[in-house]
Amino acid sequence: MGRALITGVTGQDGQHLSALLLEKGYTVFGLVRNPDSVRAHNFTLEFPEVQLLQGDMSDTKSLIRCLQLSKPDEIYNLAAQSLVSLSYKQPEATANVTGLGPLRLLEAVRITGFEHSRVYQASSSEMFGRTQEVPQVETTPFDPISPYGTAKVFAHNTCVNLREAYGLWVSCGILFNHEGPRRGLDFVTRKISSGAARIALGLQDTITLGSLDSRRDWGYAGDYVNAMWLMLQQDVPRDFVVATGISHSVKEFVCAALKSAGLDEDIEKFVRSDPSLVRPSEGGHLIGDSSLASRELGWRTTMTFDNLVCAMVEHDLRIAFAETRGE
Ligand code: NAP
Repeated sequence: MGRALITGVTGQDGQHLSALLLEKGYTVFGLVRNPDSVRAHNFTLEFPEVQLLQGDMSDTKSLIRCLQLSKPDEIYNLAAQSLVSLSYKQPEATANVTGLGPLRLLEAVRITGFEHSRVYQASSSEMFGRTQEVPQVETTPFDPISPYGTAKVFAHNTCVNLREAYGLWVSCGILFNHEGPRRGLDFVTRKISSGAARIALGLQDTITLGSLDSRRDWGYAGDYVNAMWLMLQQDVPRDFVVATGISHSVKEFVCAALKSAGLDEDIEKFVRSDPSLVRPSEGGHLIGDSSLASRELGWRTTMTFDNLVCAMVEHDLRIAFAETRGE
């Protein structure tokens, strides 16, 4: 097996992808902003085989160095400012890292002569924004409504342009929301699973959320990194929608989480609403049609919505239980 470089290796998908590639026998390198950070340290405890390299998506020189050191056959570009809510507060920083970062990486690929490397770009369903086309497919026009979605469209179009102009081997995965126990605590799904677990063990009383009516197409992150890998094993680079094709509301997520934590599904009792957490603009009905990925890559989801929520809550119950014991 070959050599792979993962940017954003400490994130949710970076962890799942590291596990997958190590299992397949790859030599794996991970780009991190600060190898001495707690996050990098925790990552190394779990994945000691992954060699961490210092780099930043806002610094082309560091990307060139990471390519020269890792000599990758495959590059998975997962690094991003990936919180939609934060992108409204930091639009410029989001544009710089999430939008311009992939351009810098591809420029670094050309400068270093690693054009033979296959590149995966983490595109997003947020690029569809206020679309009226339901479900969304690869040809659905982009209509982003957040700084995050706008930055991802710039990155996606840059990848397509450089593929067409210079023949770079770049595939973009237009991934819909995917979750799991490795999800960051800032994201709404993990906030809910962690909140439900902590309420069940008496560590907190309520969960504070924005809109309960927002709907998302939620899948399991472990399945989605498999799609990334499959995309880079194809004969030609192309872009794929990866989604479950089923959407659920935040309210449904909360009810499933409360149930998994052994609580009654009483939203009024356990959920507080905070208007400041509601997004400035709510988009169209985001639900993906991954027929192309299923036909061309043989990709399938393996986890139902209920099992996904249950796995997240069980994980968070273990963490909360350790906290009650002072561990
Ligand atoms: P995540 O957990 O937020 O991880 C993001 C990673 O990017 C972290 O490792 C972070 O490193 C790194 N990063 C942030 N700024 C950086 C910079 N300036 N230079 C280098 N690294 C930087 O995200 P994820 O859920 O794994 O998602 C992976 C990718 O898929 C992202 O691009 C995301 O936008 C995209 N995506 C995700 C979903 C989803 O539902 N999860 C759906 C569609 C697309 P630190 O440890 O230093 O913070």
